[in-house]
Amino acid sequence: MKTLRLILGDQLNIKHSWFKNTNKDVLYCLFEMRQETDYTTHHIQKIVGFFAAMRKFSEDLQAQGHNVVFYKIKDAENTQNLTKNLSKIIKEHQVERFEYILPDEYRLDKQLQNFTSSLQIETNRISAEHFYTERDDLATFFKGKKQYLMENFYRDMRKKHDILMVSNQPEGGKWNYDKSNRNKWKGDVEIPNHKVFKNDISEIKNDILSTNIKTIGKFDNEIFLYPINRIQGLEQLKYFCEALLPHFGDYQDAMHTDEDYLFHSRLSFALNLKLISPKDVVTTVMNYYRKNEDRISISQVEGFIRQIIGWREYMRGMYWAFMPEYKTQNELQNNNKLPDFFWTAETKMNCLKHAIKNSLDNSYAHHIQRLMVTGNYALLTQTNPDDVDNWYLGIYIDAIEWVQLPNTRGMSQFADGGKIATKPYVSSGSYINKMSNYCKDCTYNKDKKTEDDACPFNSLYWNFLDDKRSLLGNNFRMRMMYSLLDKMSPESLEKIKQKAQHIIEHQDEY
Ligand code: FAD
Ligand code: SF4
Repeated sequence: MKTLRLILGDQLNIKHSWFKNTNKDVLYCLFEMRQETDYTTHHIQKIVGFFAAMRKFSEDLQAQGHNVVFYKIKDAENTQNLTKNLSKIIKEHQVERFEYILPDEYRLDKQLQNFTSSLQIETNRISAEHFYTERDDLATFFKGKKQYLMENFYRDMRKKHDILMVSNQPEGGKWNYDKSNRNKWKGDVEIPNHKVFKNDISEIKNDILSTNIKTIGKFDNEIFLYPINRIQGLEQLKYFCEALLPHFGDYQDAMHTDEDYLFHSRLSFALNLKLISPKDVVTTVMNYYRKNEDRISISQVEGFIRQIIGWREYMRGMYWAFMPEYKTQNELQNNNKLPDFFWTAETKMNCLKHAIKNSLDNSYAHHIQRLMVTGNYALLTQTNPDDVDNWYLGIYIDAIEWVQLPNTRGMSQFADGGKIATKPYVSSGSYINKMSNYCKDCTYNKDKKTEDDACPFNSLYWNFLDDKRSLLGNNFRMRMMYSLLDKMSPESLEKIKQKAQHIIEHQDEY
């Protein structure tokens, strides 16, 4: 065998140019490894999903006539370490050239760079052929600029790729329909059943349980509901267009006790493993929109396209622009611990109970649950961003560091000092009440601040602003909040701060 090509678990792009032709001198390798299952404590459904998709990918490659070495987690020859496995195969097959696809994670990028620099054979790295942008494009785009505004990047992407554009102007006259994306869902618009798949994963589940891999979350099923190959990914995308896109934008920020997914696509797993590409998504959505413009408004489509060519590409670019320093930033100097109820959902705060239960049961929560419920709470309780990152990186089916870290440490925790968000995403109970029905059945009263039954978010919010005045007081976008804080009497503020302190010190009692 002359050439060895590595395929990582999140690089399952069957459309990659590598696989166009078969070549008897090329050997592909994939490994399920403890190195990957143990770098944080993952949700069981996340590990199951990765292994299921990798096993399917390896079968599909072999069916196409490619040579494949695949180490399953229990295989005796598996050293459970990436570079040791590679060294072993290079020796066994007298490999003369080693190639790999550029990893999206800094950790793996460094590991493979170190490995290849120690090799005596030829090596090469190649693009994942997945994203619209290359790793460094965003850094180049913002070079010399003070602020890395997502909106500027997004507009440039729209123009560059001619998406929702008419004669170089935004279709419909506006770049952004964010303001139309804030409806509360009251059960009046029907949500069709979500598309699920029936992938039998009993063998994988046994493998995980019998190797004592430490996991979090629940998985009572022998069936995995997310897509595990390109065909299923495209089916889910088609279903999203037909059933969910017509209301996606309207209810993008809504939350409800009866609905875990609302109109969200649940495509992040298929996208992040590269079963499907952002171009597949944009092309399919745009084609569907063009055929159905009489019943789908531009605000639904723009709201979705913004997530794919805007936020997703932007987060990746930010990650590569600022790693590895980004991972250690804690600009708000937060050092508290996450409470135990993040692993049990046992809290009386109804919003947190639902968002965390969704995460533990389904390895999923939608964006506003992640940002304005769990993330908001972690920031208001001044939690150490390392703790917050660990929880997010482990619990979500779509969590891979390049996308999890900038979303959590940057957008949600403002630990990067404002590289991503122009102000911290914090709110009192009133925002959660505006966007959900959580407060209706909550033990706590959304309108109270300091009483025993007061919503904890309220005192935590004002306490946070007061505590962080020296770091946030000069932020132009926080001016209104600080002027409201300034109007509060010293006695009221003191009572609020005492209440907030009690919550922070006794989080698991709330
Ligand atoms: P939809 O709402 O249907 O959106 C469609 C697609 O847009 C998603 O599948 C995703 O690929 C993309 N997208 C939307 N928002 C973002 C965003 N902010 N960044 C990147 N892509 C986006 N997303 C991840 O893929 N992995 C993560 O680990 C992750 N961690 C997050 C942590 C926090 C604190 C926050 C606030 C957000 C995080 N997100 C993450 C972004 C977003 O919440 C998820 O992509 C989304 O909830 C996935 O569900 P969906 O496929 O139904 O999304
Ligand atoms: Fe959450 Fe407060 Fe509303 Fe209860 S009252 S659901 S704690 S925001």
